[in-house]
Amino acid sequence: MISHEEVQAAILDAVMPFAPVECALEHALGLVLAVDVAAAEPVPPFANTAMDGYAVRASDTVGASTTAPIRLRVVGELPAGHAPTVAVEPGEAIRIMTGAPMPDGADSIVIVELTTRDGDDGVLVQQESFPGQHVRRPGGDVERGQVVFRAGTVLGPAHLGVLASIDVRHVRAFPRARVGMLSTGDELVESGPLSPGKIRDSNRPMLLAQLARAGVEAVDLGIARDDEADMTAKLEDALARCDAVITSGGVSVGDYDYVSAALQHIVDDDDDASARVDWYQIAIKPAKPLCFGMARGTPLFGLPGNPVSSFVSFELFARPALLRMMGHTSLHRTEVLARVEHAMLRKRDGKLHLDRVRVRVENGRYVAASVGAQESNALAAAASANGLAKLFDGEGVDAGDDVTVMLLE
Ligand code: AMP
Ligand code: MG
Repeated sequence: MISHEEVQAAILDAVMPFAPVECALEHALGLVLAVDVAAAEPVPPFANTAMDGYAVRASDTVGASTTAPIRLRVVGELPAGHAPTVAVEPGEAIRIMTGAPMPDGADSIVIVELTTRDGDDGVLVQQESFPGQHVRRPGGDVERGQVVFRAGTVLGPAHLGVLASIDVRHVRAFPRARVGMLSTGDELVESGPLSPGKIRDSNRPMLLAQLARAGVEAVDLGIARDDEADMTAKLEDALARCDAVITSGGVSVGDYDYVSAALQHIVDDDDDASARVDWYQIAIKPAKPLCFGMARGTPLFGLPGNPVSSFVSFELFARPALLRMMGHTSLHRTEVLARVEHAMLRKRDGKLHLDRVRVRVENGRYVAASVGAQESNALAAAASANGLAKLFDGEGVDAGDDVTVMLLE
């Protein structure tokens, strides 16, 4: 058996980041910037008011108070989106709304709450203001020429907003991987009545969803039967259509485990130097078997069939590699130390156990509790997990002990 860290390293070594492409902002959520982005224009583009109120000359308000308000003549009204047409002269004010440009002459805003109207053309100012008060200066958020985001930034909603604010409509980013998911097994049915010996395909919807969560474009490749010709044809098609392929099942040591065999045929037939199939027995539980291959220049992750094994194997081996292909540099899930609520016992077997746990925060500390059934087919219990507790080879941990948990969300 080999450690999961060695397998992760070997896989990460084998996959390369994509060549960057131009990508429209509306498709860029979650993508990684390939170059620094500098602003060609300042934000805000002009001085404007941060508050509803009156644009004034601060010097006109000196000494103003509630008991001795100062009267200014209101010479105009300025909503957001409109350019000023008149200047504020000494003794004057312009009624102004948040976001409207500062009129010439005015250097300060008196908020509307500190004023009262006085007749048709007057306003009483009840507090002194100072130059620049409630004024947003041009470039206050982003200066012209400023690098707003560095290469390597993972674009989130606010990044997209900032890019729109400087009129960047396309970014140079690592493209989203198109990843196919193929279930394998004669026992699998899609839906409807189950004839004897059949089960439903739960791995495909699960892995398609895991792929979507990882930010890739997931492609549903259906089910391949336990037949070498069908498997080979489906894999060939998948490798041709996708940037990476995930399969579930058919990688253990059963007599009907055709994934690695079919992949071996494809690799034997591939002249590319990178073509290979690695078949691992990893020192972890669940998810011991794994087949990783490169064929037709495309990585293939042959995950084990047991649903919990599939789930964990994707997390440990496929997800980091897919993230690397998409230009990410932070590839692994966050790990935290959590106190276990109850003993989590295990037997010595040379493997790292990744028990499914529910982690919560209690009095500022992480606390982990097992989700219950830990068998590799017990997906219903695993569904409530938000972490994988690392139980190193040995007897396990007692209630109150600390354990390292890989957070899944
Ligand atoms: P295998 O690795 O193909 O020997 O499968 C191991 C176990 O996982 C068997 O019990 C299979 O029936 C089950 N299995 C394989 N693929 C799926 C799937 N897509 N959905 C649910 N169970 C599966
Ligand atoms: Mg099978």
